[in-house]
Amino acid sequence: MKNLDRFIETYDDFPKKGIAFKDLLGIMQDSQVFRELIIKMCSNQVIKDAEAIVSIEARGFIFGSAISFHSSKPMIVARKPGKLPGELIQENYNLEYGKNSLSIQKEALKKFNTYAIIDDLLATGGTAKCVANLIKNNGKKVTGLLTVVELIELNGRSKFNFPVSSILSA
Ligand code: AMP
Repeated sequence: MKNLDRFIETYDDFPKKGIAFKDLLGIMQDSQVFRELIIKMCSNQVIKDAEAIVSIEARGFIFGSAISFHSSKPMIVARKPGKLPGELIQENYNLEYGKNSLSIQKEALKKFNTYAIIDDLLATGGTAKCVANLIKNNGKKVTGLLTVVELIELNGRSKFNFPVSSILSA
């Protein structure tokens, strides 16, 4: 997508020293750019092949919700600890800046068989790997990972044995 990078701001040393944080919020501040991006993401094979999508908290929800709406694919969510009610399945993971765990509602995951994973950005791949493990360990299939931005140098995509796609490489 032409000029998408103009809507992404880089903040050095945020939230920790050494991290060049990509702020994607400028995309949503231009409704035409946001719309164009969502249409492009919906045309990706990773989405087409999936019965449903799984969005990752929190910025993944922004893109995931819009993709779900535009593609008419149902969405489930992977959330950080203490946020989801009901019976959960949980996995731990390492972030580019810290440690965390993600959970999915067990009943939600039962509803569909193939999932596209959606997040705003792929860095080391730890977050998406955690979600992929949640899906696979519960007998379901991942069609692929789709993000807006991929930090190429970190080679997060090497962690996955399914298609990995991004709109912009940084
Ligand atoms: P990773 O697990 O290392 O692939 O990190 C990806 C997750 O952390 C995504 O949910 C991103 O929102 C966030 N993240 C990691 N690194 C950055 C960065 N440099 N700029 C913005 N978000 C980041």
